[in-house]
Amino acid sequence: MTQVNTVRGPVEASSLGRTLMHEHLVFGYPGNEGDRSMWTYDPDAIVATGTAAVRSIQAQGFATLFDATPNDCSRNPLLLKRIAEQTGFNVICATGYYKEAHGGSAYFGMRSLFTDTVSELADLFIRELTVGIGDTGVKAGIMKLGTGHGGISDYEHAVIKAAARAQQATGAPIITHTEDGNGGPAQARALVEAGADPAKTVVGHMCGNVRDLDYQLATLAYGVGIGYDRTGGNKLFNDITDDDRMDMAVTLAERGYLNRIFWSQDSIATWLGRSWDGFRSLPGAENWKITRIGDYIEPGLRQRGLTQADLDQLLIANPASLFGADA
Ligand SMILES: [Zn+2]
Repeated sequence: MTQVNTVRGPVEASSLGRTLMHEHLVFGYPGNEGDRSMWTYDPDAIVATGTAAVRSIQAQGFATLFDATPNDCSRNPLLLKRIAEQTGFNVICATGYYKEAHGGSAYFGMRSLFTDTVSELADLFIRELTVGIGDTGVKAGIMKLGTGHGGISDYEHAVIKAAARAQQATGAPIITHTEDGNGGPAQARALVEAGADPAKTVVGHMCGNVRDLDYQLATLAYGVGIGYDRTGGNKLFNDITDDDRMDMAVTLAERGYLNRIFWSQDSIATWLGRSWDGFRSLPGAENWKITRIGDYIEPGLRQRGLTQADLDQLLIANPASLFGADA
């Protein structure tokens, strides 16, 4: 019996059901707080928007999502809890820090002049996974980290080492961001060398380079899972289509990797700040929504020959396996 922390409390990992393992009910890039004179922070509206998003995937039979928002991107466990309470959904909150370029690296960067960053981050992650996030009473259930362009920075490497250390202490899964279809193998290697358990680690956004079989296999060689977690973001993310994603998933399934693929959409229900409608209407973003997997991927994978048991493997058993559970 393995328990998972959801924002409403622990549940059995084997009972998570159909799971999306990388979505955002509320997300804000660092810096949005400083712009708040120009937009209205409305927690009730965030809860309403998140609740509507969750209801749309409940209608597709999903029961659980991992909210992949790291601490420095306006993660808000109490808003996630309100959404989970309104819907009866399992929402699993993350602890972690984002890639250096787009995250809140300044704080630990300056502290690194006089402290051990890896220890400070590991202490934080372990506390949020085992004691709780601040005084919210909500525990994190997963860890999230990222790496950016041009290799892994010293700061990003510190986050990787801290997450691996916290995983050894808590058993919590690690999910990640890679940049524009680059850096999967290097990130997987850094995680494994730092002591992360590949069975509990998913290198994210691997569908950003989904026409390159060698890239996929070089990452899988470390034993980690791979996130096909930007479904629907056609062209927005590297001119990749969902048909490309499905074609490569079938190729990998034929090679025995069905149990290493993790589907999600990286959708954002509420994006903090001034209006992001302009981003959402960029060419290629038309299908970037939280219902895309149920609407398009599942029928498309069936057309390509995958069975219901295969789909259950992808959407139920694979996420549960990150917690060491059979489902
Ligand atoms: Zn994301």
